[in-house]
Amino acid sequence: MTGEGEPLRVAVVGAGPAGIYLAEALSNQADGPVAVDVFDRLPTPMGLLRYGVAPDHLKMKNLGTTLQRALELDPVRFVGNVNVGYDVTVADLLADYHAVAYTYGAAVDRKLGIPGEDLPGSVAATHFVNWYSGHPDIADDVILDAESVVVIGLGNVALDVARVLIRDPEEMATTDIPDNVLQRLRESPIREVHIVGRRGPEAAKFTIKELREMGELAGVDAVCDPAYLDALGDIEAIEEKEVRRNVEVFKDWSTRTLTGAPRKVIMHFHSTPTELLGTDRVEAIRFTKPDGSTYDIPAQLVFRSVGYFGIPLPGVPFDDKNGVIPVVDHRVQGGTVEIGEYAAGWIMRGPTGVIGTNRSDAKGAATAILADRETLEARDVTPGSVFKLLDERGITPVLMDGWNAIDAAEIRKGGTRGNARIKIAVLEDLLAAAAGTDA
Ligand SMILES: Cc1cc2nc3c(=O)[nH]c(=O)nc-3n(C[C@H](O)[C@H](O)[C@H](O)COP(=O)(O)OP(=O)(O)OC[C@H]3O[C@@H](n4cnc5c(N)ncnc54)[C@H](O)[C@@H]3O)c2cc1C
Repeated sequence: MTGEGEPLRVAVVGAGPAGIYLAEALSNQADGPVAVDVFDRLPTPMGLLRYGVAPDHLKMKNLGTTLQRALELDPVRFVGNVNVGYDVTVADLLADYHAVAYTYGAAVDRKLGIPGEDLPGSVAATHFVNWYSGHPDIADDVILDAESVVVIGLGNVALDVARVLIRDPEEMATTDIPDNVLQRLRESPIREVHIVGRRGPEAAKFTIKELREMGELAGVDAVCDPAYLDALGDIEAIEEKEVRRNVEVFKDWSTRTLTGAPRKVIMHFHSTPTELLGTDRVEAIRFTKPDGSTYDIPAQLVFRSVGYFGIPLPGVPFDDKNGVIPVVDHRVQGGTVEIGEYAAGWIMRGPTGVIGTNRSDAKGAATAILADRETLEARDVTPGSVFKLLDERGITPVLMDGWNAIDAAEIRKGGTRGNARIKIAVLEDLLAAAAGTDA
């Protein structure tokens, strides 16, 4: 039982956009005191805003300022460097907090399930994105030793991957990408990026701004075979605006003459990957067309971008088929406690929507938690028990001042390349920066 005037204690698992928006919503919507600890396994907050959104999309990255402000709200505390499910269990959290909300995202790649998928040169988009974003999980460089590259997928992540590969590296130099990534991009011999999808141009999930950007990159010719568009008939008559606008861009590309630019991006549709060919590494990718015929694209690297997927957290109910936590109105179904577990963001909805979608989602989760306040406060909890456990287990959480120290160290590093910041990509270095023991 919580005493009069005591805060409702909420643990949020995952300091990505969904978790931070949830902390903000709890703080704004509550009519009594709340205390919200936002845990993350990394010493840095922001989730995929930091480790997903492409470095050259600076405007979107600016959302970090809004999320930072939310983390600085009085009732909110960032608790980084704590891997929930491992460093502390969900049961540990439930023993300390009245409510636990899961917002730990869905950052595992889906597999193609075809022969050759594990050959060297076959790279999951998640891995590549993590690498160029300076994610501390990635120890080794992605070696870009290819002239021709295939990116499989018709979503924005595929477009990000293709753009980072083909864009003039000097344009990337002004972003926050780590030095080693910039160096690899500068050395890259890549001349052709083929973007390939199973379905037709009308089914591409690209957003128009990002698609148009691809066709306007300096030093890059954008190519699309007009035959893919002929089958669609009158483009003007396509009712759905998003579809029509994408198709118009492909149409434009299909009528362009090559300018002799040093690099090319080439669209392919109605092509299902059936095999990655090669002996010691990828040499080509075989595709099947709807009429059963096959064709190969010679390429030394292939990036698989066919969707993100959630993974279960020990002790939390999980819908394996859809890769999400099952909920009704954000309340987890079949959990350890009847009322006390909630979910929001990608791990609840699946990997869809833009960053703002997580905000409305988080508001919904906050509404559910606050509506349950009386029942939650009747739960017997021992405030502070999780921090005691962390201490006993030798785990030092990175709190807000630690993250601010990392932030400041990255901004200092930025000065060396004349840009706003350069990311620190090694976990030990992040922890040293957080502790103020970095050089
Ligand atoms: C490559 C890519 C590019 C994107 N680009 C854009 C874009 O340009 N514009 C846009 O609007 N949207 C973009 N998105 C979508 C956007 O990033 C997501 O909508 C959003 O990040 C989802 O928020 P989330 O909080 O649910 O998950 P996440 O952002 O994934 O955050 C989850 C957090 O949980 C933490 N975590 C995971 N497991 C644990 C654990 N066991 N214990 C503690 N913490 C844990 C993770 O470290 C992470 O910080 C992009 C997504 C990707 C993948």
